[in-house]
Amino acid sequence: MIRPLWIEVDLKALRHNLEVVKNHMEPEVKIIATIKQSAYGHGLVPVARELARAGIDFFGLGDIEEAISLREDGFRGSIIILSAILDKFVTYFLQYDLIPTIVDLEFAKKLNAEALRRGKTVSAHVKIDTGMGRLGLYYKKARVFIKKLSKLKNISLEGIYTHFPVADSDPEFTNYQIVAFNGFIRELKKEGIFFRFCHCANSLGIINYPKAHFNMVRPGLVLYGVKPSPNLGLDIKPILSLKSKVIFVKRIDRGRGVSYGRTYIADKPKAIATVAVGYADGYPWSLSNRGKVIINNSFFNIAGRVCMDHVMIDLGDSKDIKIGQEVILIGKAKTARIRPEDLAQWAKTIPYEIVSRLSLKIPRVYNSFSSRWIGKKKGQ
Ligand SMILES: *Cc1c(COP(=O)(O)O)cnc(C)c1O
Repeated sequence: MIRPLWIEVDLKALRHNLEVVKNHMEPEVKIIATIKQSAYGHGLVPVARELARAGIDFFGLGDIEEAISLREDGFRGSIIILSAILDKFVTYFLQYDLIPTIVDLEFAKKLNAEALRRGKTVSAHVKIDTGMGRLGLYYKKARVFIKKLSKLKNISLEGIYTHFPVADSDPEFTNYQIVAFNGFIRELKKEGIFFRFCHCANSLGIINYPKAHFNMVRPGLVLYGVKPSPNLGLDIKPILSLKSKVIFVKRIDRGRGVSYGRTYIADKPKAIATVAVGYADGYPWSLSNRGKVIINNSFFNIAGRVCMDHVMIDLGDSKDIKIGQEVILIGKAKTARIRPEDLAQWAKTIPYEIVSRLSLKIPRVYNSFSSRWIGKKKGQ
C-alpha cells in the first residue's frame, strides 16, 4: 500500500453485533446474514467466513458473481440470491448450488427445465410484494402464480418472503404488511402449499417488530454496527474505520482559495492539509465544505470541494500537524469519533450508501481474519 488510504474492519465487533441481533430473537429463528455488495463494503469473504464461524447458515447475496466468488473460496453453506436474475443465467443456480428468488413464471419454467435436464431439484424462495413495490407480484394477485410454481416438479419452494419499505417510520403500514403476509401464507396452506421458511424482517424489522420474525430473518446494516435509523436504541459497535494520512501541509494567506470552484476562501492566514482520499474512493463529493475529519483526536473541517483523490482540511492555526500524520475519516480516536451515520448526515444521504460505496480498491485490513471456512456444512 503506497497511497495511504485503508479500511480497518473489526470482526470481533461483528460478532458482538450478531449477538445483539440474536438477543432480539427466539433461538429457533434462522438468520440469513445479508452480505450483498461485498458485505456492504466491508469485504465479502472475511465477513462471510467470520459469520459462518459464528454459526450462521444462510447468506443473502445480491448477484451471482459474488455467490460464485464465495463458492470458489470454498464456502459450502446455503446462499440465497435476494434479487431477480435474468433467465438466461438459470444454469448458475444449479452449477453453484444457489437458492434463487422467484418472482417470474418464465424464469421459474427455465429453471425447472434446467434442473430436470440435470436430474436435480433446486430449492427456491418466492418473493411477494406487500407494499415495497420492488420485486414480486402484489400478494393479492400472487395466488395463481404460486399455484403454478408449486406444480413445477424440479423446484422445491422452500421459502416465501416479502420486504418492508417503512419499518423505521410507519408502524401502521408495517403491521398491515405483517398481517397481510401472515394471512397470505395461511391461505396458501389451506390449499396445500406450505413453506418451510417465511421471512420479512430486515434490521429494523427485527429490532422493532418481533411479530415480523416468523421463522427466519434477514439482518444487514445492524451487523455492521450501523444504525439504519438515528434513534434506534441498540448497543451495536461500528466495525469499519476509514483512514488516510496527511500528504502535504502548507500555510496560506487570507483571501486564498482552496480546491475547484474556489468555494472556500481563507478568512485569515491558516494551515491547510491535503489528505489522500476523494470521491473516486467513495468519499462523497457532497461532503465539500461540510465534512469533518479527525487528526490528533481533534475535529477539523473540510476546506473546499472534495476532489477525485484528494481532500483539503482547514487546520486553523494548528502548527503541530505534519506530513504523514494519520487522518480518521470514519472511526474512533481516543475520544473523538466519526460514524458512517455522521458522514451520511453531513452528505445528506443514508449510511447504507456511505459504507457500500467505499471503493473495493481500498485495501481492507481485518483483525481475527479466519484463514478458512469453519461452520456448518449443508445438510448438517
Ligand atoms: C438488503 C436487504 C436486507 C437487509 O436490510 P438491512 O436494512 O440492511 O437490514 C434484507 N432483505 C432484503 C431483501 C434486502 O435486499
